Amino acid sequence: MTSIATLGSHCSLQVLKGAKDEGLKTILVCEKKREKLYKRFPFIDELIIVDSFKEVLDQKCQSILEQNNAVLIPHGTLIAQMSSEEIESIKTPIFGNKWILRWESDRGMKEKLMREANLPMPEPVSSPKDIKNLVIVKRQGAAGGKGYFMAANEKDYNTKRDQLISEGIISKDETLYIQEYAAGVLAYLQFFYSPLKEELEFFGADQRHESDIEGLARIPSEQQLKSAKVPSFNVIGNSPLVLRESLLEQVYEMGENFVEAAKRMVSPGMNGPFCIEGVYDENAKFKSFEFSARIVAGSNIYMDGSPYYSLLYNEQMSMGKRIAREVKTAAETNQLDKVTT
Ligand code: AMP
Repeated sequence: MTSIATLGSHCSLQVLKGAKDEGLKTILVCEKKREKLYKRFPFIDELIIVDSFKEVLDQKCQSILEQNNAVLIPHGTLIAQMSSEEIESIKTPIFGNKWILRWESDRGMKEKLMREANLPMPEPVSSPKDIKNLVIVKRQGAAGGKGYFMAANEKDYNTKRDQLISEGIISKDETLYIQEYAAGVLAYLQFFYSPLKEELEFFGADQRHESDIEGLARIPSEQQLKSAKVPSFNVIGNSPLVLRESLLEQVYEMGENFVEAAKRMVSPGMNGPFCIEGVYDENAKFKSFEFSARIVAGSNIYMDGSPYYSLLYNEQMSMGKRIAREVKTAAETNQLDKVTT
């Protein structure tokens, strides 16, 4: 029997509940400190208790997963806590394409794939001295927006960078990525590409709530001006968003383009869940600043199904359940190699 395994964080509850609903065995790689939390959920069949998630690389953990015919579902925590080399060395079959996760973590590769997909993007700024308009300065990897900052010019950049270094939030030798700031309505577009059906599905959209940048809007400008604190973009939670129906055509087009580009650049392509993240401007034109090449935590808001999936499925379908359905169908038809790497 096939089982579904994931790391205890990010969207693991949704992933394992969906797997259980599909009749698959569920395994959670769980840090000791979170054992009490995860034991509350009866749909988790087995906990592999570890001191650190890195133990998933150890023989002991991998052999338990192998004995259970486990498919490992990657999510943001895996990417945040492990290097691309470590992820690629995992022997357990990983759902989707583990090779594309490197393209998500590396800013240069990320930009290359987004250009190949023809996604409209805010311009990157190659050096602080070239900052002409408002920019956002980012760290490498899935840092969740922590330590990001905005800058209006080179001086502003240097002051804020130095401040964050002195506060220990970023390190001195860290390469930062500078990008034109795109103003508008944030939208995180979540998709699923089925390698079995060779079909793209639009699952839903969400918005992220980030601290303490959002808190700024609650403070009168007089106090804002007096504050020397550099606001951060640390994700705290997500809320649902439905788009104007007239925007959907372009949403599918961007998703299709991304899937096609990934097929050309990173075999076997963008299989499974992914997310295109960006901003709609005043003309409803989308600018994409980021993608995630795996399930995003924003899908947690649709554990009972999303508005768009209720149009495609006559049942409650979460992203976790959709993943499990693909694994189950692949296992039943001897095609697990098509859905895993
Ligand atoms: P990211 O790690 O790229 O997803 O960025 C984290 C957060 O920073 C996003 O959720 C946005 O709120 C903000 N952000 C990132 N890039 C831009 C941009 N180019 N323009 C405006 N906001 C951005």
